[in-house]
Amino acid sequence: MSDFRDLRISVIGAGMGGLACALAFAKKGFKHVDVYETASNLGFVGAGIQLAPNMVRLLDRWGCWDSIGAEATNITSSSIREGSTNRELVHVEMPDIAEKYGYPHCTGHRASLAGGLYEGCKKEPAVTFHFSSSLVGITSFGPDKTVFTVQPRNGDAYEVETDVLLGADGIKSAVRTSLLRALDIPADVEDTGQAAYRIMLNRSQMEHDPELLELLDADCALRWIGAKRHIVAYPISNKTIYNISTCQPDVNFAAAPGATYTTRGSKPAMLQVYADFGPTVQKMLNMVPEGEVCEWRLRSHAPLATWVLGAVALVGDACHPTLPHLSQGAAMAIEDAAVLAEVVSRAPGGGSDRAALSKAVKVYELLRKDRTTLLVDLAASSARTLHLGEGKAKEERDRAFLNAKKRGTPIPDKWASPEVQHMIYSYDCVKDTDEKFDELYASLADGAAEKGFMNGDTNGNVATNGHASGNATDVAAEVAAEVAA
Ligand SMILES: Cc1cc2nc3c(=O)[nH]c(=O)nc-3n(C[C@H](O)[C@H](O)[C@H](O)COP(=O)(O)OP(=O)(O)OC[C@H]3O[C@@H](n4cnc5c(N)ncnc54)[C@H](O)[C@@H]3O)c2cc1C
Repeated sequence: MSDFRDLRISVIGAGMGGLACALAFAKKGFKHVDVYETASNLGFVGAGIQLAPNMVRLLDRWGCWDSIGAEATNITSSSIREGSTNRELVHVEMPDIAEKYGYPHCTGHRASLAGGLYEGCKKEPAVTFHFSSSLVGITSFGPDKTVFTVQPRNGDAYEVETDVLLGADGIKSAVRTSLLRALDIPADVEDTGQAAYRIMLNRSQMEHDPELLELLDADCALRWIGAKRHIVAYPISNKTIYNISTCQPDVNFAAAPGATYTTRGSKPAMLQVYADFGPTVQKMLNMVPEGEVCEWRLRSHAPLATWVLGAVALVGDACHPTLPHLSQGAAMAIEDAAVLAEVVSRAPGGGSDRAALSKAVKVYELLRKDRTTLLVDLAASSARTLHLGEGKAKEERDRAFLNAKKRGTPIPDKWASPEVQHMIYSYDCVKDTDEKFDELYASLADGAAEKGFMNGDTNGNVATNGHASGNATDVAAEVAAEVAA
């Protein structure tokens, strides 16, 4: 029997998902982990990110939470406000998140999270980074070795033979394109019709205004909502920076569909979009220097019929891109990484049997698909609720906010609702893998992973963990109803 630690693991992309894959596999004892990244270094957009307990649990196990946590803000409350009036619709005290789930809910700088993961990887002799190197195609999905082509920025393309290939290459994933093409499945990225402005204010800009200073010094995440738009704000980097992220209809990118997903946004356009929001928001948006507004296009794609072909698997935004309204995109990518390292380490025969290795990788999809589908759908439905304009539905929503305030019933903003938080934060993906791997592995038909589907069903009706149908909307509606009940 071979030793799984000798398997060659190739990771495409050094975003949150790719870095987490490299660290998870190295921590599991794998000795050969290679990461290929198009960019010449880890250049992260200057923006904040919420670090939910289900993510922090894994960072802590991998030994990189202490440095990230040292700069993070421990969020102990959230406040949802009407954008136009600043009226508080609901205030949620959550001082006991760490007590309930073992880990706090924090906010931090993206560079801090990526840097912590990267430093963790650098301490692992197993991990080698290949920057300025892009995967340009997959030549073979097996059944023997997987082979892909890498194009260095300054050099000749070369082929790499590997045992496991992980496509953590984001929303525009080349691995996903190759994998779906091999299965003859269409692979179109969809517009969500939404875009986000990301801006950051320094303490020096806010400290002369008592109202703004109070926001910066509070351990609170705020959301101002209005028709078709909202703004989220929280302190990061030891409260030296106030991070502001918006969401509004995509007007600028929509006019240029071929353009990049991130661009310098126009400050006057941003002010115009939020012109009817209250004075607190106006003060903050006006403080941003012209030229420091970053705009992101929010993209998605239809749920995929499969994430796996042979020993090639998709990770993070490559397979389950999400609107950011539940703050779980990176958390899900990091969970994916942890589950992948577990399932590959459990492949019968240590991975020497290619069919067994492929089946073990397929178990990853079974373990992850229901959960990620649910969270992606909850984020989308939360946005629909938050973005309601005047009318009956909005009146009902505001009544639900009032009830939540008075009686502790579920909150229409799913991110802040305790029962949703419980479902997301209490989940330990490694424990779940430990408990279910054998049963799920045994449930797979031989050859399933080579076809990409469980039982050769190419209609997307993938039987997933705990649900008869993998249809995203049905599963999400079912579990969302359970959660709301
Ligand atoms: C406005 C906004 C707010 C968000 N807030 C939160 C939050 O609070 N909490 C949270 O958990 N998540 C949040 N997210 C989601 C989160 O940012 C993403 O889900 C997460 O970063 C996805 O990570 P990834 O590694 O899958 O993809 P990416 O971060 O996109 O990384 C992909 C990497 O692959 C590289 N790459 C691409 N193609 C190739 C190739 N062919 N060869 C080699 N390398 C390649 C890219 O250069 C990139 O470095 C937010 C997202 C947005 C848009």
